[in-house]
Amino acid sequence: MPKSIFLTPGPSELYFTVPDHIQTALRESICEISHRSKQFENVVRNTVSQLRTLLNVPEDYYVVFTGSATEIWERSIQNLAMDTTYHFVNGSFSQKFYDFSIALKRHAVKFEVPAGQGFDLENLEIPAVAELICVTENETSSGVTFPLSDIYKLREQYPDKLLIVDAVSIAPYADLDLTKVDSMFFSVQKCFGLPSGLGVWIFNEKCVQKAEALQKEGLAIGTYHSILSLIKDAKNSQTPSTPNMLGIYLLGKVAEDMNRKGVKAIRQEIDYKAALMYDVLSKNKKFELFVKEEKFRSQTVIVANLESESAPLINQIKEQGIVLGGGYGALKARQIRIANFPTHSKETFEKVADLIEKY
Ligand SMILES: *Cc1c(COP(=O)(O)O)cnc(C)c1O
Repeated sequence: MPKSIFLTPGPSELYFTVPDHIQTALRESICEISHRSKQFENVVRNTVSQLRTLLNVPEDYYVVFTGSATEIWERSIQNLAMDTTYHFVNGSFSQKFYDFSIALKRHAVKFEVPAGQGFDLENLEIPAVAELICVTENETSSGVTFPLSDIYKLREQYPDKLLIVDAVSIAPYADLDLTKVDSMFFSVQKCFGLPSGLGVWIFNEKCVQKAEALQKEGLAIGTYHSILSLIKDAKNSQTPSTPNMLGIYLLGKVAEDMNRKGVKAIRQEIDYKAALMYDVLSKNKKFELFVKEEKFRSQTVIVANLESESAPLINQIKEQGIVLGGGYGALKARQIRIANFPTHSKETFEKVADLIEKY
């Protein structure tokens, strides 16, 4: 049986060059060498350098590795807020970021809207005591995006607060100006099309200073992974623990491939595929776009409700060798979620669009 193509929002289809890179990694003993060796330091250096190019990371921002994005929810709260965090919540992932703050005994304040909706910043008032603003740039559970212009507005209105962006299901699609945020992070099994189990955390000097201040106050900022321990080893292109060496290697190779292709071309393809899919979904009466306001519609995770159960459609498309995502949480049974990541080809999207049109 031919391999299926995964349009699920994570894990998702592997970036098309990954199988070859895995072969090379095995030949080069990437999983067997010491993580303290010169050879592995070079791997880390290449990955960081490719990411800096791909994501246009300012020179004075740090790039470090963790086990997952979930870990960065925890670490960022431990390192960047003593008392109060502020969260925009409109789905399962942004809610979890908020939950982690409460679990870590912070005072967490949320601006919550129902799943499928974005945030109106018109009358926004973030309490003066909030130290850290947490934005989920692309709420993967509901397909809602947080527009870049709104992120920049937050920076303008609250220049003294730390601003962190969860970019898990959108980097490197969004052209986020990192100089306008203090930190951003992602994991690799979504847009990057890599095996799961690796988080990437980018932050500036302000974050380092905050972590130092919290540590001075006697707070626990993390045992093996804190901003301070991570940057100490990152200076030597190393990591505090034995990292996901294969993951770091593959990320460097895929970022290199993406740089070669050009991030602009990747973004244009994603825009083309999103426009195609939103168009057929809005024209077929059996479907209803979950995100009503166009400016909040995600380009990378497309969500639609069906008038009846989504399983028959998902099964029909599965027979064609393509796996769509189901809904999330309470809306599971009557929804589809379609990932639109760099590795998903126009041809695959045209095929799915055709099947949806005729459904
Ligand atoms: C998937 C996802 C996460 C969690 O990523 P892990 O790699 O599972 O830790 C966090 N935030 C968003 C927006 C996600 O889509």
